Amino acid sequence: MSIIIKDLHAKIGDTEILKGLNLEIPTGEVHAVMGPNGAGKSTLSKIIAGHEDYEVTSGSIIMDGQDVLEMDIDERSRNGIFLAFQYPMEIPGVSNANFIRAALSERLPDGEEIDAVAYYKDLYEKMDALSMDRKFTARAVNEGFSGGEKKRNEILQMMMLDPKYCILDETDSGLDIDALKVVSEGVNMLRNENRGFLVITHYQRLLNYIKPDVVHVLADGQIIKSGGPELALELEEKGYDHLTPVTA
Ligand code: ADP
Ligand code: MG
Repeated sequence: MSIIIKDLHAKIGDTEILKGLNLEIPTGEVHAVMGPNGAGKSTLSKIIAGHEDYEVTSGSIIMDGQDVLEMDIDERSRNGIFLAFQYPMEIPGVSNANFIRAALSERLPDGEEIDAVAYYKDLYEKMDALSMDRKFTARAVNEGFSGGEKKRNEILQMMMLDPKYCILDETDSGLDIDALKVVSEGVNMLRNENRGFLVITHYQRLLNYIKPDVVHVLADGQIIKSGGPELALELEEKGYDHLTPVTA
């Protein structure tokens, strides 16, 4: 089981952002993607999730043998793709508890309903694991949340939806060290052989807490280098500049 991305080219407006990107994320593994600002990391994550601003011009994304690019956003989600955003959106007027409950309801067969008691038990357990105050259940999704609270909330949604492929886009940005540890523990709790992770980060620090199996470098719309966890340390030391794209 895996997500396999082959020779992906994508643009926004007239600007080509992804320029022949290859990446495979098998279940049971954590793959980190690092790279300079503007490399196309968020673009990659949003294209996998199905953001409609981006146009895929060629290449493929295959998840467990199915063509992801043929699926609508909600189909991708129901088939197990989850994206924790770099910049989570605020949704005024919709409480956190109702938002997650609605997402879970959508996954049930017609006519079946969420058991409210079991739902809140599960929700509170996961909020406790993320050290989130219970008052966040009643607050509108991300409205007035601090940067760190928004990131925690993304991980809460992820834990509740139990996705097969988790994509985390710079979840570490805006987190202090305590929040970083809490969020990483949440992610590590979800690690298992039936789940794959794409962890996007600009800094090596996150990877001290979420140990990746493979580290990839994304620069100028391509994966230009892949290696083990030691590659992240090398990047921390030398920066991205000494790496150059494999092809012109
Ligand atoms: P990263 O996440 O690696 O920092 P992004 O994927 O956000 O990079 O951006 C890659 C490039 O695409 C950048 O040059 C950025 O300015 C451009 N880009 C991304 N989204 C848009 C958009 N909605 N409109 C125009 N340009 C965009
Ligand atoms: Mg980004």
